[in-house]
Formats: sequence, structure tokens, C-alpha cells
Amino acid sequence: MITVKNLKKRFGNNVVLDGIDIHVNEGEVLAIIGPSGSGKSTLLRCLNLLEKPEEGIIQIAGTKVDARKMNSKAIYQLRQQTAMVFQHYNLFKNKTALENVTESLIIAKKMKKSEAEKIGKELLEKVGLKDKFHQYPATLSGGQQQRVGIARALAVNPSAILFDEPTSALDPEWVSEVLQVMKEIAEQKSTMIIVTHEMQFAEEVADRVIFMADGNIVEENTPYEIFNRPQSPRTQQFLKKIG
Ligand code: ADP
Ligand code: MG
Repeated sequence: MITVKNLKKRFGNNVVLDGIDIHVNEGEVLAIIGPSGSGKSTLLRCLNLLEKPEEGIIQIAGTKVDARKMNSKAIYQLRQQTAMVFQHYNLFKNKTALENVTESLIIAKKMKKSEAEKIGKELLEKVGLKDKFHQYPATLSGGQQQRVGIARALAVNPSAILFDEPTSALDPEWVSEVLQVMKEIAEQKSTMIIVTHEMQFAEEVADRVIFMADGNIVEENTPYEIFNRPQSPRTQQFLKKIG
């Protein structure tokens, strides 16, 4: 479903992605862990071309883009393949939960409002927000806002969902309900890449885990191996520090 080859990104002289290779099968969950500044967010942002890599090939579902020969059509097509869930939700503050979810369906997908609302309500119900359709983000808890963010990502029916530390801005009391929703989505065989500091969750839900440092993939393995028998000293050191 997702293949990334030799992805390179720099900001000025700072090499942030130093030739990343990734493969994610359909229905698979890939967790990415690693210290702050290792390039995890930039990697996700390159996958939907919110950042432009200098080099590399990104293929998601049927769309393949070579960073050296990008055109606006390829960029548009690749962006259609994924949806992102952000650390800080990025909801429209002046729109209700339902409007946040239906916005892209009505504007980008040109869907009729009634049809979009039907889908939006189903998705909000799926993330446990059946009674919050018409509330504004400010009246929702952090956990509820992030669940709206997840429903919004699901709305466009993406080939893969990219999560960038979806629980790290939440008060501890709201973390588990968001992880639970993500777990349910994973169980429905969605293709997901999840950048997270929730190691227990990664161990439980991911099919594979990548440890990144300094723009490189240091180690990739099953969750069991990564968390119980990390091979690289850098991985060992990282896990010891956060554990
Ligand atoms: P992580 O998500 O693993 O914490 P990031 O991908 O956010 O790491 O950042 C990796 C590196 O890229 C950091 O050194 C960061 O300062 C740098 N960086 C990220 N975004 C930008 C940007 N827009 N401009 C300049 N440098 C950036
Ligand atoms: Mg980040």
C-alpha cells in the first residue's frame, strides 16, 4: 500500500531525512518511535507532500511520485491517498464537530450536504461522539476534539491514515479513549502509520515498529523484538530513557 524509497529532505544544511525506505502493506499498522527532532513529523509530512522532499519515490496505493519530477497533478493525486491526524487536532474552531467532519466531503469531494452529513454522523458515532454533532470544538474535551480529528480523517476514505503523536497534547485522562478509537480503527484493517510515544500502545497495536534517529531508520522489527530485544545501542538507550 505504501512504498517509500530513498526519501531525502533537508532544511538548509540540516539533513532531516537521510534516505528513508519504508514499506507498509494494506491493513498494516506501522508505528514510528524515536527522539524529538529525529524527523518523524517531517517524514509524515513528506508522505502527503506538506513538505517537499528533494529526492525519493513515494508510492501510495495507485499513485507514484518521484520527488525530482513532481508536478501539481501528481501532488494532488498523492494527497488524496492519505489523511492526517495532528497532535493539536487542527479543527476549525468556528465549525461544529459535524461540520468539521463534512467540510472536505462538501468542498473537495463535492458531495451533497445531506449525503455528507449522513457519513459525518456515522463517523462521529463510530468515534463515540453521537451526542456531540452540533458542538463547537471549544466546548469539547481534548480527547473529544481529537476523536473529531480522527472522524474527519476517516471521512475522506483514505488509503492510509497518518497519525502524528495524536495523544501527546492531551491531558492524561483523555489519552486512553483516543488510543481505544485508534485501536478499533486498526482492528478494521485500516492501513496506518502512527508516530507515537505510547510504547505500550505501539507494542499492542502495531504490526511493525521503526525506531528513527537523526533522519535514519536505525532499527525496524516486530513490536515484541523492538521492545524486548532491541538490537541497536541507540534503540536500547532510547527505550531505557523513556521507560
Ligand atoms: P520529530 O517529529 O521527530 O520531533 P521533526 O520532523 O519535527 O522531528 O524535525 C526534524 C528536524 O527538522 C529538526 O531538527 C527540526 O528542527 C527540523 N525542522 C522541522 N521542520 C522544519 C522547518 N519547517 N524548517 C526548518 N527546520 C525544520
Ligand atoms: Mg514530531
